[in-house]
Amino acid sequence: MRSDDATTSAPTFGEMLATSGILERASAATREVIAGASASVAEHARVHLKVVSCDACTATKACCHLKTRAYLHEAVAIVARLRREDRDTPELRRALKQAAHYMETVAQVKHERPCVFLDAGERCTIYDDRPSVCGTHFVSSPATECARRTGNISALRSPAAEQAPSQIEEQFVPRAGLRRLDRHYSGALPRMVLICLEAWDRRDYVTFLAERCLPAAHRFAQITR
Ligand code: SF4
Ligand code: SF4
Repeated sequence: MRSDDATTSAPTFGEMLATSGILERASAATREVIAGASASVAEHARVHLKVVSCDACTATKACCHLKTRAYLHEAVAIVARLRREDRDTPELRRALKQAAHYMETVAQVKHERPCVFLDAGERCTIYDDRPSVCGTHFVSSPATECARRTGNISALRSPAAEQAPSQIEEQFVPRAGLRRLDRHYSGALPRMVLICLEAWDRRDYVTFLAERCLPAAHRFAQITR
């Protein structure tokens, strides 16, 4: 359903997502990608006699200090959770804004900042709704190597997980009545969550999301190294 205008009868972004079942579907799709990648990596490790170090990692989560990409269809599940848990506060929005700016202006090799969603105990506070990139990257090298910039990392990835987010987006964008952009609706994780929080109660979300997501995608793509 499109909601290009701001008439009072038009649903807000959050209402449209909830009543259409799109939110549930997007959330389930990302969880499936992560579950599939975990199973495939576990099988690969079993066959090649490797250990998936992430399974029992108690180290400082160096992987949660890196640049993190998220799609809009991934951010909606995170935002639904934040709202459900009363975590949408001015402080959170300020932290997201600062983290987004940092992530969009600092090269990957220099990026050293804990994710907004990592707590003091090194746990992900949105774990079940984390974006696919967080749930599909594994290593077989010792966790201590992750903390070193020049660490000897042996990555374990599931090839099927590579294309999955853009395939989910292919369905999400038309179902949600969003405009097609010449880029994905994706960018820095904190930026996408912030945009999504701001869009949630808007009736003109189609225009708002297109205008905010396109530059966000450009900014994130510009500085990758
Ligand atoms: S990538 Fe490294 S730091 Fe992150 S969970 Fe896996 S072993 Fe631990
Ligand atoms: S969303 Fe969770 S898993 Fe992903 S980087 Fe942040 S804290 Fe780590």
